[in-house]
Amino acid sequence: MEMQVREMDCPSCGGSLKLTSVYVRTTICPYCDQTLHIDDFGLSVAGKQPKLADYPTRFALGRKGKIKGKNFEVVGRVRYRGEDCFWDEWYLTFEDGKPGWLTEEEGECALFNKEKVKSAVPDKSNLRVGKTIDLNNYKIFITEIGEVSLEGGEGQLFFVVRPNTPLLHIDGNAGGKLVSIEFYEKEIEFHIGESLEYEDILISKEA
Ligand SMILES: [Zn+2]
Repeated sequence: MEMQVREMDCPSCGGSLKLTSVYVRTTICPYCDQTLHIDDFGLSVAGKQPKLADYPTRFALGRKGKIKGKNFEVVGRVRYRGEDCFWDEWYLTFEDGKPGWLTEEEGECALFNKEKVKSAVPDKSNLRVGKTIDLNNYKIFITEIGEVSLEGGEGQLFFVVRPNTPLLHIDGNAGGKLVSIEFYEKEIEFHIGESLEYEDILISKEA
């Protein structure tokens, strides 16, 4: 797998960190659990992340496998918690260097791609389950909406994590595709995806 590996020192504890994805915006130091933001100037400290409690899953940091025949490696994950649910979002790097967002909730997995937002951001005060919104020429039917918080994370993450900041999360569908939207202060993250069957995902044996 072709990867551009960057090595950096944690500004908090001095530990040596390896960054393998060019899409990484945040990394969590495995030695001191600090959340570190990455920009052109290097790493900056953003606050501590708690360690995640484990539960049965086929994924783990550094694990490799195939999704529908395409090789991937797991480079990071975060856990979101809503009022009565939680799910993990795993960050993958595929063999062509492209990033993937894999969500796992009660064993159900879905693979998402990030879409650049090209149309007006919906007014978040006006959203509810059952409403249809327009975004990037998709008609998105909202199936779930609620405030979620980040419970913790590890490894390399593809967005700027702000610890202890709840955010509004939407699940929806658009013509059979899954939609996930997160609202931040000024911007949104917009992902389109599809659910995966158990046999769509092959995990390589540990070396
Ligand atoms: Zn550290």
